[in-house]
Amino acid sequence: MRPETRVVHTAFPDLEGSRPLAVPLHQTSGFAFTDLDTFAESMNKPDGAFVYTRLGNPTVRTLENAIADLEGGAAALATSSGMGAINAVLLAALSAGDHVIAQRSLYGGTHALLHDLTQRWGVEVTYVGGHDPDEVRAALRPRTRVLYLETISNPTGHVSDLPALAAAAGEDVLVVVDNTFASPLLCRPIEHGAHVVVHSTTKYLGGHSDVTGGIAVFARSDDHVRTWHHSIELGVTADPFAAWLTIRGLRTLALRVRRHEENAAVLAHRLAEHPSVRAVHWPGLPDHPSHALAAKLLDGFGSTFSFDLADKAAGRAFVTALELVHLAPSLGGTETLVLHPASTSHRQLSEEELRAAGITGGTIRLSVGIEDPDDLWADIAQALA
Ligand SMILES: *Cc1c(COP(=O)(O)O)cnc(C)c1O
Repeated sequence: MRPETRVVHTAFPDLEGSRPLAVPLHQTSGFAFTDLDTFAESMNKPDGAFVYTRLGNPTVRTLENAIADLEGGAAALATSSGMGAINAVLLAALSAGDHVIAQRSLYGGTHALLHDLTQRWGVEVTYVGGHDPDEVRAALRPRTRVLYLETISNPTGHVSDLPALAAAAGEDVLVVVDNTFASPLLCRPIEHGAHVVVHSTTKYLGGHSDVTGGIAVFARSDDHVRTWHHSIELGVTADPFAAWLTIRGLRTLALRVRRHEENAAVLAHRLAEHPSVRAVHWPGLPDHPSHALAAKLLDGFGSTFSFDLADKAAGRAFVTALELVHLAPSLGGTETLVLHPASTSHRQLSEEELRAAGITGGTIRLSVGIEDPDDLWADIAQALA
């Protein structure tokens, strides 16, 4: 069946005789046993009987299986946040002295984590662009363990050439892809050579700005088991209610992603024609540098993108003049949000790093929601005026 059907029909264990339509919420921290040996054996593996919710929970497992299925993975590990998933995957894969090749334009929290790993844990990192496999080949070292990429980068909408970069990394390097901006509806990185896919489920998968969560999907079960062991030490477990809310959001993922993108297309085209707008960075526009790659790799162009106004004063004035669109962090919810990256999400970057990331003082990021596009445009037009 196609993803549009699979997101609605979440699989979960049957009862006898009939079954609930909604996924049951197992809001419990632990499970009681009648057999001591079953209890003991189940503590050492991710797929035994449920013991303690930090080790596994039926509602959390339902979410893990649903997203593993959408991404085409063997298993998944749901976590308390996107950063929880990224930490679990990287810390389980790396030891002091290991080397990581990472894309230069990374989510801020991931960038901070890699910085910390180099400063305090003896991990070395080489940064590369998202397109040139030769750059990855040149960066390889005997102790390169991880290649870390993002499908669509924030906020300029650059698409990574996942198949070319993954192939360049070779067999022994764990290829990890943050697929948050695309969602499995637009891209399934495992099909392009990724071993691990991470998401902030806080964004499109949950989709309603009411839950914080993350997930790592594994192509191979040994990577899953290793990361599970580490995650229970880290304690980044997803709470059952958070998992339940995410499953509820997942049911409308296909509808939402399509509507988000239709709205993004309307706004991107209108912004591109507006005299106050210097540039629009939506990969659906034919002049975007990633347009051809996005058309080849993705089943759509996404709905979080940026555009440039003249300068910082114009950027700051615009984001505070909006009335319907909220000035807020995060993305992927039903409501449209705006952000001024130079003042907030990317404030730690130097002038030079900002330029390399394609961000100016006038850059505005939009996470386009599912409202009526004319209402959104009316607000944006009055704020531009
Ligand atoms: C939000 C986000 C994260 C971090 O997720 P949290 O749920 O906030 O911890 C990681 N990667 C990307 C691309 C994100 O947008």
